[in-house]
Amino acid sequence: MGVLKRLYYCPACGEEIITDKHLYQGRETLINIGDGWNSPVIMHYRCHCGNKLAGSADVTDVNHFGIEKIKACIEEIQDEAIEL
Ligand SMILES: [Zn+2]
Repeated sequence: MGVLKRLYYCPACGEEIITDKHLYQGRETLINIGDGWNSPVIMHYRCHCGNKLAGSADVTDVNHFGIEKIKACIEEIQDEAIEL
């Protein structure tokens, strides 16, 4: 059995952490359930830099390319939100 791993990524300050620990507890801002196909569930949280749209996702069985895709997805959400 593998250890659960989560990606924490903030497009604003560039912080990127992959860990089996739950970081940023109590700092969740909103959840993005994705489109139900390929996109992962992303939990957004308020980063220590103040960005409320940093994103976290389960990457337990996700390879390097999958992680890059999730990061791109978090960046896209961030960009779209700023445009509103
Ligand atoms: Zn940040």
